[in-house]
Amino acid sequence: MAITKKNLTCIVCPRGCTLTVTLDSALENPVVSVEGQGCKRGMDYATAECTHPTRVLTTTAPTVDGGVVPCKTDRAIPRELLFEAMKAVNALSAPNLVRIGDILLPDLLGTGANIVATANRG
Ligand code: SF4
Repeated sequence: MAITKKNLTCIVCPRGCTLTVTLDSALENPVVSVEGQGCKRGMDYATAECTHPTRVLTTTAPTVDGGVVPCKTDRAIPRELLFEAMKAVNALSAPNLVRIGDILLPDLLGTGANIVATANRG
């Protein structure tokens, strides 16, 4: 049994609670306890962050005319896929005319997440 403590900043809301997570690496779910959360979502965030961290990717995609359009994933994807996801987005040639919510790249890397435009363009 190897008990460790880890400090995290909860990013679920602007309050940014500092969470202290106690972990036991011998357990399948290593999270033993979480302290410092202002609400239950902090517990959920700490558990996910310590077992299967995910992130929403926010970036820009190249457009056909050589410009860019702001975009993001419409759901969080595994953190370990962010680098490959950026490569896929950078390889896009998005239309010059897009509307907020348009899907620029469906099912990013088989995650089920879509890359969607976050601004109107053109
Ligand atoms: S623990 Fe709750 S109150 Fe604190 S930052 Fe996370 S979501 Fe916000």
